[in-house]
Amino acid sequence: MTDKWVYRFGDGTAEGTADMLELLGGKGANLAEMSTMGLPVPPGFTVTTGVCTAFYANDHAYPDGLQSEIDSALAGIEAIVESEFGNPDNPLLVSVRSGGAASMPGMMDTVLNLGLNDETVAGLSHSSGDERFAYDSYRRFIQMYSDVVLGVEHHLFEGLLDDHKNQRGLVLDTDLDADDWKEVVETYKAQVFQDLGVPFPQDPQEQLWNAMGSVFGSWMNQRAVSYRRLHKIPTHWGTAVNIQAMVFGNMGEDCATGVAFTRNPATGENTFYGEYLLNAQGEDVVSGIRTPQHLTIAAKSNNCATDLPAMEEIMPGVFAELERVRHTLEHHYHDMQDIEFTIQNNRLWMLQTRTGKRTAAAALKIACDMVAEGLITKTQAVQRINPESLDQLLHPTLDPDADREIIARGIAASPGAAAGKVVFSADDAEGMAKDGEDVILVRMETSPEDIHGMHAAKGILTSRGGSTSHAAVVARGMGRPCVVGVGELRIDYKNQTMTARDVTVGAGETITIDGAAGEVMLGRVPTTEPTLSGDFGALMVWADEIRTMGIRTNAETPADAETALRFGAEGIGLSRTEHMFFDADRIVAVRQMILAPDVEGRRLALAKILPMQRENFAQLFRIMEGKPVTIRLLDPPLHEFLPHNAEEFVEVAEAAGIDPEYVRVRTMELQEVNPMLGHRGCRLGITYPEIYEMQCRAIFEATAAVTKETQIPVAPEIMIPLIATKAEFDILKILVDRVADAVSVETGAKLNYLTGTMIELPRAALRAGEIAENAEFFSYGTNDLTQTTLGMSRDDSAMFLRSYETQGVLEHDPFVSIDVDGVGELLKIATERGRATRPNIKLGICGEHGGDPESVRFCAHMGLDYVSCSPYRVPIARLAAAQAEIN
Ligand code: PEP
Ligand code: MG
Repeated sequence: MTDKWVYRFGDGTAEGTADMLELLGGKGANLAEMSTMGLPVPPGFTVTTGVCTAFYANDHAYPDGLQSEIDSALAGIEAIVESEFGNPDNPLLVSVRSGGAASMPGMMDTVLNLGLNDETVAGLSHSSGDERFAYDSYRRFIQMYSDVVLGVEHHLFEGLLDDHKNQRGLVLDTDLDADDWKEVVETYKAQVFQDLGVPFPQDPQEQLWNAMGSVFGSWMNQRAVSYRRLHKIPTHWGTAVNIQAMVFGNMGEDCATGVAFTRNPATGENTFYGEYLLNAQGEDVVSGIRTPQHLTIAAKSNNCATDLPAMEEIMPGVFAELERVRHTLEHHYHDMQDIEFTIQNNRLWMLQTRTGKRTAAAALKIACDMVAEGLITKTQAVQRINPESLDQLLHPTLDPDADREIIARGIAASPGAAAGKVVFSADDAEGMAKDGEDVILVRMETSPEDIHGMHAAKGILTSRGGSTSHAAVVARGMGRPCVVGVGELRIDYKNQTMTARDVTVGAGETITIDGAAGEVMLGRVPTTEPTLSGDFGALMVWADEIRTMGIRTNAETPADAETALRFGAEGIGLSRTEHMFFDADRIVAVRQMILAPDVEGRRLALAKILPMQRENFAQLFRIMEGKPVTIRLLDPPLHEFLPHNAEEFVEVAEAAGIDPEYVRVRTMELQEVNPMLGHRGCRLGITYPEIYEMQCRAIFEATAAVTKETQIPVAPEIMIPLIATKAEFDILKILVDRVADAVSVETGAKLNYLTGTMIELPRAALRAGEIAENAEFFSYGTNDLTQTTLGMSRDDSAMFLRSYETQGVLEHDPFVSIDVDGVGELLKIATERGRATRPNIKLGICGEHGGDPESVRFCAHMGLDYVSCSPYRVPIARLAAAQAEIN
């Protein structure tokens, strides 16, 4: 088979299709698709991602056959547009644009107007009948090409242009005439010569191949590499290059260029949402240099920021065509699209379409609306929402009753409220966030170099840019609250201040932004919990109809349990009882118990704790109304509860009636070198059985009492932590049953309970078969299991894990998403062996992974009965479990 490196499109046909995403990249595949759909696409061709891979594999050399394929594809364009690449009388100009399989907005390079030189510029002037336009295009080309391909800095050219304007007393670019641009072109070329010692390249073929090389080169530039790392895009995918006949949005007042979403990407509302600039080219809209105009009259009247005419008003014919394209695209792709277009002499040209990025709220609304419109099914709606993104909907908004001092307003670009200290650079944002500070990143505008700071910040505020500017698009993708285009905000990077309406805020001072209202406020404004829309409820119902795996929550406080229930938890999968020991009213008794010299001393202290524990459990049982509640007996090393200073020594000594010096010495004795592998978990239960006896008594007495009180049978599941051997479990199971029997006799209640174990040590996973002889359920404690399987401390690994991820040693943090090959293998073994012994054994997971969509998917495929996660992640797990079922 011979390789094919180039795929053509245009003139109503194409060699590629939308599903050839990997080979042609998103842009190329969709240009081909639009062309076949009969939409107006300037003719062109896509050089495949395979060429990019070959380019890097062969030391930046191109594969054989590429040259002739490009030559003939170029001839194809020439035939369609009836002009010729490099022909001084009638030149064809092309754009050269990157486009990988995953969209990486603004991350890689683009060159427009390629093919211009000292001769063809005259030809362009002649063929367009517009000399000013021709030289304006030439200077744009020199600037872009020099920046992208030759590495001459962009701002040098801006400086030369400013110099020219100052000399001539001109203000706007539109004030410059053809002669001005000719002079500017000369100064630009001189700048290139001065910087590089060689003239600006005049050969269009040389321009083309070097531009293509630069696009391939930009795949590995720093910002692209870091974007891919953040978005988990594999390096080996590579980018394609799209070479396409130029169409011009800058040829006069009947020309324009714009970007739009087929629905509102912030709210999901089914309205056309976009911006355009008259007489402008390509990147002008996204760059935020000029204030863009609205597409629709409705959008214009809803937003007082600009009173420039909407496209619907001044170009009604083209607008109507664009509206038709909008509907055609949505019906074809069954999803909201993000499009780029250019209008040349009142004729519409489509330059791009792709699935539009949107906020979580918009994704939800669009999916639900599209189900109602018959465009997609409920199952597709469930599949379409990224579970992780639901987090955005669950974030707080400003308390409507809170006082606030608004110091500026801008465009509401990404919803949610955030407060934090002002920082003026991405590096400061990253640095302070690492130190645990909440920060708001304040910039005039953002660029791809700021990504790491945007990620680290709680919110983003810019003085420039529109709702499709870099800051807005990226913040929405990341789910960060964002306000852009705050024109009244003056930012002084040098003095590290921002000023609006006579209020000056310095770096380090706190502000609050509301990304849904576009407001900037002084100080920290209180927030309220989100209320979920009807769409959220509908989607969750659809997800629940599909999923078969149960979703529980990890909760020990009544508040957590209630939140989780609201989010749809079907039980408690882990209640960490030690959290109940830290309450101020009982920590002294707990310390007294730990430090007691003998059993009697411990029993005395435990008797004080018992009623409090019982009440804790009773509260949880009442809230859960008969749903299963897994209670884990005491797990962490005792020394975590030890007193820290002389004052606390005395406090404990007094409570126990012993000598403070004894307390101090005993405290020292109990310190451990490696506490996570020390005296903890079931080891405590075996050495100090009275502790677990007290806890079981509290559980069973609460069970009996609440069952009687509510008439709803309580279903406790007693869970033993950190089991390594069957013998450990068996000893403690006898203890549990003994206490249950005693309480049953004392209260006359019949107790229904299960006794099971956490599987969180590799040995337990391997010996699951025999442990299951007496254990009625397993709950996988993947936090400890990850720690002990990889031999990586949960508390000390952050330092090197980041480096491991960047170097590709590990694909992801194994404490966030299950290490499928290692920890996952142990889970499979435990599941298999446990079920072999006890076919109906109840299996769940309660490590942090229970709320991670990837891990939830893994658990669903293993056929676990449930996952248990923190309350706010319950909806995420519900959705991920449904998606796992569909796939
Ligand atoms: C676990 O180890 O996964 C677990 C849930 O327990 P903890 O995090 O309390 O150690
Ligand atoms: Mg654990």
